[in-house]
Amino acid sequence: MSLFSFLQKHLQKLHRRAYPVNYTCYNCQAEVFNGQIFCSDCKDLVPYNTLYCLKCGRKILQYGYCMDCRHTLPVFEKARSLFVYEGQAVQFIHAFKNGNPHFAQGFAKEALSIVRREFFDADFLTFVPMTKQAKDNRGYNQSELFARSMSEMSGISVEEIFEKKRDTPEQKNLTRSERQNNLKGVFHVKHRSICKDKTVLLLDDTLTTGATANELAKLLYGAKAKKVYLLTVASVVLQKTPSTLP
Ligand SMILES: [Zn+2]
Ligand SMILES: [Zn+2]
Repeated sequence: MSLFSFLQKHLQKLHRRAYPVNYTCYNCQAEVFNGQIFCSDCKDLVPYNTLYCLKCGRKILQYGYCMDCRHTLPVFEKARSLFVYEGQAVQFIHAFKNGNPHFAQGFAKEALSIVRREFFDADFLTFVPMTKQAKDNRGYNQSELFARSMSEMSGISVEEIFEKKRDTPEQKNLTRSERQNNLKGVFHVKHRSICKDKTVLLLDDTLTTGATANELAKLLYGAKAKKVYLLTVASVVLQKTPSTLP
């Protein structure tokens, strides 16, 4: 073990002691002792995303690609998410975006195994930006906190690559091409040179339509990134999956 990694390990230990992640279950507030974010009872209730599209990571019912990816492949290499955006996960995300920034640490802890398994070759992490005004209003950018917590836990550095120049109207009622047009010129790459030939893992709280992640992946590839991955806390199930077809 090098002196540097020795010191890093011990500093992390001290940090964890000074800022413990939690001592209570995120769901029911029961006491937990093993550093997990859910007690064993709640773990069964939380919608972990266990069978997912190999490309976009959304929940599906059969191994392979979802209908949406079979129709049009997203630009990013692959995406994964910790939870399916339903049931308890909806409440977690809502809390995370509305005054409970500490959720970032718990989510990162839970999603660390995904990073180690699927994104181990990432050179650095980055996150979906907010406009300055939106961040001032909320007091934090939840995607940034998720990325920074993940960086601490995984040891992969985090870079603030993007700037968001203006807010966009709601995306969900627009068609695919309207959504892409809606995002034209909204994001700006601040540090192009550090993306060159790098594998980038982009983090966000929720994969909804996928338009934002797609746009940011395009910009990263435009800055010569080698590969772009996406990790979100939760992903929305699209309507036209095989499960909903007659
Ligand atoms: Zn519980
Ligand atoms: Zn898919």
